[in-house]
Amino acid sequence: MIKAFENHEIWFVTGAQLLYGGDAVVQVDGHSSQMVDGMNASGILPIKVVYKGTANSSKEVADLMTAAESDTKCVGVITWMHTFSPAKMWIHGMQKLRKPLLHLHTQFNKEIPWDTMDMDFMNLNQSAHGDREYAHILSRMRKGRKTVVGHWQDPKTLEHIAVWQRVAAAWADSQDMRILRFGDQMNNVAVTDGDKVEAEMRFGYHVDYVPFSTVMTYFEKVEDKAVDELVEVYFKEYDHAPELEDKNTVEYKKVWNSAKAELTLRAVLEAYGAKAFTSNFDDLGDVNVEETGKGFDQIPGLASQRLMADGYGFGGEGDWKTAALVRTAWYMGQGLPKGSSFLEDYTIHFDGANSALLQAHMLEISPAIAAEKPKLEVHHLGIGVRKTPTARLVFTSKTGDGVAVTVVDMGNRFRLIVNEVNCIESKPLPKLPVASALWIPKPSFEVGAAAWMLAGGTHHTSFSYDLTTEYWEDYAELADIEMLVINDETTLSNFKKEMRVNEVYYMLNKALK
Ligand code: MN
Repeated sequence: MIKAFENHEIWFVTGAQLLYGGDAVVQVDGHSSQMVDGMNASGILPIKVVYKGTANSSKEVADLMTAAESDTKCVGVITWMHTFSPAKMWIHGMQKLRKPLLHLHTQFNKEIPWDTMDMDFMNLNQSAHGDREYAHILSRMRKGRKTVVGHWQDPKTLEHIAVWQRVAAAWADSQDMRILRFGDQMNNVAVTDGDKVEAEMRFGYHVDYVPFSTVMTYFEKVEDKAVDELVEVYFKEYDHAPELEDKNTVEYKKVWNSAKAELTLRAVLEAYGAKAFTSNFDDLGDVNVEETGKGFDQIPGLASQRLMADGYGFGGEGDWKTAALVRTAWYMGQGLPKGSSFLEDYTIHFDGANSALLQAHMLEISPAIAAEKPKLEVHHLGIGVRKTPTARLVFTSKTGDGVAVTVVDMGNRFRLIVNEVNCIESKPLPKLPVASALWIPKPSFEVGAAAWMLAGGTHHTSFSYDLTTEYWEDYAELADIEMLVINDETTLSNFKKEMRVNEVYYMLNKALK
């Protein structure tokens, strides 16, 4: 179990019926307990599974699902039919359950006991029969769920459950996610905008605006001593040039200002109970900040980097959709080794089969994906309302496979776009001192980038090394939104066909609801 998820539970409900007598149900119950104990002891599942008993009637199913809905620890329900369980008895319960559902198609015994099997055994161990009946009613009800097939002791089966558990936990987190926007969208930018009302209905999160005048009330309360202490933490945590510690230099003052911005943003985020935020480099307080001191002297880049590493979602230039996805990727990936971050497509390196995209932002990349210890540096930044030096963490990313995802608003639906990518070694950028990553989109730069743009994908992504497409597929299922995957299987002609089919599907789906 992962400590970060210790307040979450997954409930396990076994379907049966009383047709085969009370003794059979007792055996079903015993097997189920043993299975849940085994799954918990496997070391593969990040969240504890709690066995909730057998459900043998419509009322029992409905009572269990009502309880699951109202229990704050429960973030999802696993169901499995040990015997035949006539599926009309699942209708009322499944109407009540809105939390994530996983249908586990497994069986207590792994192999058929050829020599000893009799009719009693067949009646007791008929998951192949019962799970089909149960799945029928879920499909008849158009009930979204993940179906996992495999023996409960097989690590592969448990790994699929583990993925879904993390997604279920992040889904619960999303239902209670407040995203603060410090400043609006950048003027005229389309792709980062969208329907915040629909987003709250679909994804659960709430997006709020905080005027910079409010931010300033927190800024003014930050004590100099706290800023001095945070600067010391920076010097301890990150490599840096020794002259940065000279208090008489502009560079020291810039590090100090960055620390004050970080403490300000932390205070606002905590006061509002927010889990994600966006910034806008055109909205940083008083334009005469150099004289008045009433504002940030530059975008809070270092603050955004460090806040992301602590789990706050971040989106540049008012991009609340990506901020939410960055938080969700971080939440799902807790305890996994390689990290996640907000990233931005900037510049292309054409190089045949190795053509790649340089990922950077002005500053805001999470040090969670750094290959080496980040360096704290102060350099000039000429974008936005301020033209002045500022502190930032400089590093290049780890190498290896990852996924980049975005959500765009297509007008009648949200579309999740997932691109599997391969991060390759970057080269030093002596004249561009920012954090960066370099990746080759799958299946190739040409097809991957073309598919992404045909799908209307953003230049902002939520990127993770640890999460795979399977996580996002489970997430899209929960949100009940369109998902397009770009990977080694992608061809542009099939991708275009899929988008045309989806266009019709979502038009009809909307019309029917
Ligand atoms: Mn941007």
